[in-house]
Amino acid sequence: MIFTDDTEESLRAAVWLVNSAEDPDGLITTDDEEAFLSQFGYTGRIDRDEAEVAGLRDLRPRLRAMLLAPRDDMAVAANAALADIPLALRLTRHGDTDWHLHAVADDRPLPERVLAETAMALIDVIRAEEGSRISVCADETCEAIALDLSRNRSKRYCSTACANRNAVAAYRARRAEA
Ligand SMILES: [Zn+2]
Ligand SMILES: [Zn+2]
Repeated sequence: MIFTDDTEESLRAAVWLVNSAEDPDGLITTDDEEAFLSQFGYTGRIDRDEAEVAGLRDLRPRLRAMLLAPRDDMAVAANAALADIPLALRLTRHGDTDWHLHAVADDRPLPERVLAETAMALIDVIRAEEGSRISVCADETCEAIALDLSRNRSKRYCSTACANRNAVAAYRARRAEA
């Protein structure tokens, strides 16, 4: 574990949303949103309607810019996000999750809570100087974000699909040379 559980979960959720914007778009319907929600255990208000999907979609470019920003710009972006949202910081625990921080009241819209949680997670990234763990996928044709939470910093691709495609290409290139 590089960061705390809740920080890593927030980063994964933000990256999921950002990468859903890649072609073919993976966040169009409320079913798509359900796929997101089933992967990330959000508590609090969840509307499961088109307005909420639209709100999450609108958030994607901002999350992408925050996640990929150089350290000082990331700090500015995190501050801007925290200034945009009515914060209600408190420790909470629910389900199997031990005490952790919630930044926004449970009845606020989900996109607001996602933005706040991303900003809170980036505070940890900034303080630990670990921004290099968030990058654009090493595949030449892929613009998705690769999130590397591995201890040995071995993850350069956004997905196993991109990693495998490049492994095959590298293998073919070596064979062609031989
Ligand atoms: Zn929680
Ligand atoms: Zn990729």
